[in-house]
Amino acid sequence: MHCWELRYMIYPIVKYGDSVLREEALPVEVVNDEIRQFASNMLETMYAANGVGLAAQQVGRALAVCVVHVPPELDQDEEDGEPYNPEIPMPLVMINPRIAASDSTQVGEEGCLSFPEITLDVQRSFSVTVGYIDLDGEAQALECSAFLARAVQHEIDHLNGVLFIDRVSALKKLSIRGQLKRLKKKTDAAME
Ligand SMILES: [Zn+2]
Repeated sequence: MHCWELRYMIYPIVKYGDSVLREEALPVEVVNDEIRQFASNMLETMYAANGVGLAAQQVGRALAVCVVHVPPELDQDEEDGEPYNPEIPMPLVMINPRIAASDSTQVGEEGCLSFPEITLDVQRSFSVTVGYIDLDGEAQALECSAFLARAVQHEIDHLNGVLFIDRVSALKKLSIRGQLKRLKKKTDAAME
């Protein structure tokens, strides 16, 4: 009898300064085993880095695949502890995702695995409707809100080559200029 084992790979995470983060993702044409394996590797890479989301560019590939896993403790209303998105199973693997609709904005704190130690207050839509393809190649749509909606918007931005530093004021960006410079230098040195 054959014993099957789920195998995966943890990818190195691309940091700010690597030009792949600015590339626009190519759409996935066919959801096949290679894509499923890639998504599984992305999930494990995200978990290993204690992240809540990861886009393909962050593992060096400009392909329209992103993963999100918001734990229950980050999906709660601060006042009454009620979950915002109880019906959405985690993790989410979204292929070719598009934001179909969004509503009023909120400001909240964000980090990014490609920007270690930097957190920024970013304005995002409070809730969004997203269309995407799942791992079975089926079209899906979901509506999500609060932190999950923030994570989804952050990852879809990555797929478009947009980074969270692009979503803050020039003044705010100026205040982290030193950190960004150091990070870019480190990335350049690691790529040599
Ligand atoms: Zn990010």
